[in-house]
Amino acid sequence: TEKDNLKNCHLPAETLSGKKIKVYANIGNFNEAKEAQRRGADGVGLLRTEFCFMDRKTLPSEDEQFNMYKAMLDELSGKEVVIRLIDIGSDKKVPYIGMDEEENPALGTRALRLGFKHYEKLLKPQIRALLRLSSAYNIHLLFPMIATPEDLHEIKAAVRMEMRGLQKEGFKTNSSIPMGIMVEIPNVALMPEKFVEDVDFFSFGTNDLAQYLMAADRTNPSVSDYIPAAVPGILNIIRGVVKVAHAQGKWVGICGGLAADTALTEAFINMGVDELSMPASAIPKIKAFVRKLD
Ligand code: PEP
Ligand code: MG
Repeated sequence: TEKDNLKNCHLPAETLSGKKIKVYANIGNFNEAKEAQRRGADGVGLLRTEFCFMDRKTLPSEDEQFNMYKAMLDELSGKEVVIRLIDIGSDKKVPYIGMDEEENPALGTRALRLGFKHYEKLLKPQIRALLRLSSAYNIHLLFPMIATPEDLHEIKAAVRMEMRGLQKEGFKTNSSIPMGIMVEIPNVALMPEKFVEDVDFFSFGTNDLAQYLMAADRTNPSVSDYIPAAVPGILNIIRGVVKVAHAQGKWVGICGGLAADTALTEAFINMGVDELSMPASAIPKIKAFVRKLD
């Protein structure tokens, strides 16, 4: 029952045959960090930082961001937390940034594309706030909407540059902070070997991956039947990415909606997926489900 699931939610997710999978939470604010703790999250696989920019009237400063992220990290008591750089744009609008109207915003200036366009006010304060937390907390950086190896090199160079700046100013930072990329654009999904050497992990964004594989807007109800139809193709892709990643000792997680689908859990474990990250409310059910698998 749901009550039993909740009672046992702090136990690890291990199958009867002894295979373990990390069950992590997706969060976007302090209350969701608390909820992740209550529902037995082993860590956080996706902290959507864009939610710290929404529902306000001005940009959060470096110090404000430092304090917001720190509050969530303190609540999560030392657990591993994967923090994604801002994925603003497309369906997640932040009016005070003054974004240009685009005909196809899901295919436009979103996430790091927007972040680099306004580097000084968007990416720089965020990267600095996160790096200032990197020596005291177990954090990973996750880069959204990577499409090319050049995208990855550009953001990694920015992180290295900000790290050097902070070190010169006397801040302690973790110079080997793990960095990974979202797999949500087909070009990455189909050629993980072009990225694997430059990442510590991959995290599947199955929501956007389905949208881009099917050419079906994830927010448009009149094409919503195409989204579940992407599952067989996505499973093939995940299988391929896990092989490439594991051959290089890198791990693979899933943080899109499919991570919480019990109809797929067994397949994910069998193909070697290392981590599933989902809304905290789904964690007790998924952990209970994994424990009954042989
Ligand atoms: C995804 O695309 O599946 C994902 C996890 O990111 P978001 O839903 O925030 O775009
Ligand atoms: Mg996405």
